[in-house]
Amino acid sequence: MTKTSLLQTAYDPEAFRSMGYQLIDELADYLATCQAGGEGMPANPWIKPDAAKQRWSPALDKVGSVSSLQILSDTLKEGVHLHHPKYMGHQISPPIPITALAGLVSDWMNNGMGVYEMGVPGSTMEHLVIKKVSKHMGFSEAADGFITSGGTLANTTALLAARSIKARQRVWTEGHKEPLALMVSEAAHYCVDRAVKIMGWGETGIIKVPVNDRYQMDTGQLEHLYQSATEAGTQVIAVVGSACSTATGSFDDLEAIATFCQQYDLWFHVDGAHGAALAFSGKYKDRVKGIELADSVAMDFHKMLLTPSITTALIFKEGTHSYQTFSQRADYLFEQADPEWFNFAKRTFECTKLMLGLKAFMTLSQYGVELWDEAVTAVMDLSQAFGEMIRNHPAFELAVEPACNIVCFRYKGNDLSVAEQNQLNEQIRQALLEDGEFYIVKTWLGEGLWLRTTLANPLSTTKELQGLLGKIEGLVPADQTV
Ligand SMILES: *Cc1c(COP(=O)(O)O)cnc(C)c1O
Repeated sequence: MTKTSLLQTAYDPEAFRSMGYQLIDELADYLATCQAGGEGMPANPWIKPDAAKQRWSPALDKVGSVSSLQILSDTLKEGVHLHHPKYMGHQISPPIPITALAGLVSDWMNNGMGVYEMGVPGSTMEHLVIKKVSKHMGFSEAADGFITSGGTLANTTALLAARSIKARQRVWTEGHKEPLALMVSEAAHYCVDRAVKIMGWGETGIIKVPVNDRYQMDTGQLEHLYQSATEAGTQVIAVVGSACSTATGSFDDLEAIATFCQQYDLWFHVDGAHGAALAFSGKYKDRVKGIELADSVAMDFHKMLLTPSITTALIFKEGTHSYQTFSQRADYLFEQADPEWFNFAKRTFECTKLMLGLKAFMTLSQYGVELWDEAVTAVMDLSQAFGEMIRNHPAFELAVEPACNIVCFRYKGNDLSVAEQNQLNEQIRQALLEDGEFYIVKTWLGEGLWLRTTLANPLSTTKELQGLLGKIEGLVPADQTV
């Protein structure tokens, strides 16, 4: 009898089949429980880091001591449950089943995707998804782009393209000779600042535009900030609009930014990682009006569009611009209408990447953009209802009227100083985390600490939201109860 090698065991088709069936059963049961309200299941079964380390290390101490099915099953039980209607934490979507199955196939096939021949279906689907999404945002046939690994990378890629196209100097070949800068609201996601620093523009490379009381860029300040940077010898090449901002979900006035960019021949990039998805909601798409005027737009499918992370579209109004990210100005490319759309590595940071387009392609082929309309509209409606609930509640206050599915609020308490109020809300949030029934997060806005929810699950209802407020009231010390 020949001894079975580890390789034979690891590749055993029959073990895979039986494990796969059992695993799918568990995942389906979990989904059914979540859909029925998630009774008896915490949204986030949190434990302290040291306890988690102790809990998971035995499986590595002795190979095979915990079965693979057990590990996967425990991971499902002990991680954050995005499908749970009481999950209201960070900005990430509960995936629909077909997108997760697509992920399995993508992982399984491991087609490299840097070049067309290393994954014909995946490359083609990615292109078709981008075309469909950009059309829906209001772009023309000239628009094109690709799908990349996250909003952070998409924004950085777009800004590299902007530099290549707008900078007077030939940075790609000669390095930086004169200072460059972009303008962005002070409420923007930190990745824009990071992109500036990665590009080597330094502290003066990011001009932070103050926000108004709704945390939107105060576009009235663009002119004087632009003029003073220019007078100081900096070439301002771009303005980044947030659609929406991360902390409060506020949308900048994209039309006003577009007009300003046209006036000074600046690149207009929209960081729509979270909120560009509103373009799919018939009811709420006005909140991103002007998005089609952008030179480039980043949009995460994994924030509002029921897709596993990380899947981010980067769309260029002029598709040909997407080929200039990793080269100096290449005017000859403009002679070609559609230069090699199928070889993605020319335009993406990634060399090897998964079939990032397959998941969105599945959704579009089975349910059409109508599903995204339903999903986005549902969480938007819910956030509007939550805003109203808080506004009408004597014990709570809103940081700002919710413009997206992100709601920031806090418990008022009795005659508290700012510091005391911050402390009370910090305690509430920590108690919620350790309790696990609901999962929400927190954010600083100026001097104040606020509780923050992202209503990411279209299956959450006002019942869970009432439950959350009730739960918080139950956690407040008696002397602070309003
Ligand atoms: C989430 C977010 C990002 C970062 O995107 P990742 O996909 O997490 O890399 C960037 N900008 C905004 C506005 C975001 O909300």
